[in-house]
Amino acid sequence: MIHMTHKRLWIPGPVEVDEQHLLAQAKPMMGHREARFTDLYKGITEKLKLFFEVGEDYHIITHTASGTIWMDITGRNLISNKALSATCGSFSERMFKTLQNCDLNVDQIKEEWGKATKPEAILDALSEDDYDALTVVHNETSTGVKNPTEAIGKAVKEEHPDIMYVIDAVSSLGGDLILPEENQVDLIFASTQKAFALPPGLSIGIISDEAYQKAKTISGRGRYTDLVGLVDYYKKKQQTPSTPAVSLLYALDSRLDEMLEEGHRNIAKRHEEMAKYTRSWVEKHGMEMFPEKGYESVTVSTILNSLDKDISALNQELAKRNLMLSNGYGPFKGKNFRIGHMGLWSLSDVKELLWHIEEIWDL
Ligand code: PLP
Repeated sequence: MIHMTHKRLWIPGPVEVDEQHLLAQAKPMMGHREARFTDLYKGITEKLKLFFEVGEDYHIITHTASGTIWMDITGRNLISNKALSATCGSFSERMFKTLQNCDLNVDQIKEEWGKATKPEAILDALSEDDYDALTVVHNETSTGVKNPTEAIGKAVKEEHPDIMYVIDAVSSLGGDLILPEENQVDLIFASTQKAFALPPGLSIGIISDEAYQKAKTISGRGRYTDLVGLVDYYKKKQQTPSTPAVSLLYALDSRLDEMLEEGHRNIAKRHEEMAKYTRSWVEKHGMEMFPEKGYESVTVSTILNSLDKDISALNQELAKRNLMLSNGYGPFKGKNFRIGHMGLWSLSDVKELLWHIEEIWDL
């Protein structure tokens, strides 16, 4: 064990990282213009393509920045006229505000926190104006809602084939089953400290060729946020245009081998089992889930504090057992609590955590 007093993280990111991947970072440094770096970075990209089942019509960029960078990338590369931003919690609101901060024309279609964004509502809103981009969050980490991004993609692309469809899948990609092609998405992104079960510092963007072509027509893309620059550098050299976090890339490479071995569908099944068990535990003990029924996340379960317990006190007791979960987000602190069961956790681990809660609460 590297850290004897480590609290096991049941928060929705950062999550537990297996020791072998932590240690993978401790390899000696290399230059990012060396052939061995090209091998590493190209290898990671190929593994990601395999995992997400994408072909030549998608580009994949692993960026040295947390997931939020992709909100700026969206704003600076994919919108020439007006965007529609669907919000249903704090992180989808962050995307909306980021687009506003990029001085773009953007409308918000707002769902109450805990409710999901539906295709019909999106289609209605899209018919109101000449939008050329749509942003949706797949897994709203602040509420534990999973949005039907596949159904939205299908409905939207049928009527608006040229719209840039952007999905924030920061806290679900790599855990839930999400295939870019099935979602008909133009940009989908995630951070490594969530379902990838790695340290923070990297994010992954999967970009349709249409999005890359559209970015070429847009000026003011910046440098670190220049989608064309990122994709072109990869095409030309299979490297990154600026110095990447090489140590984190070692860890990603090592974790991707493990993810490919387990398989995308098996990983998703493991996450579904954990979410389903948690929901049945909630019901058994007279509590309720916070998200709208049928739209519960499989990576983070948000539970209404129906038993009126002190959630901060629960976390203090859990800490004595080297465990930690999350209180409700922002305005929901104390009103609900969140269990992040993503990354490496399995059903037996969830059962153990819930057993500890039962003991502490005397359920
Ligand atoms: N989007 C969602 C859904 C998130 O859960 C988070 C972080 O928790 C973010 C965006 C921001 O990601 P990052 O902190 O990696 O920038």
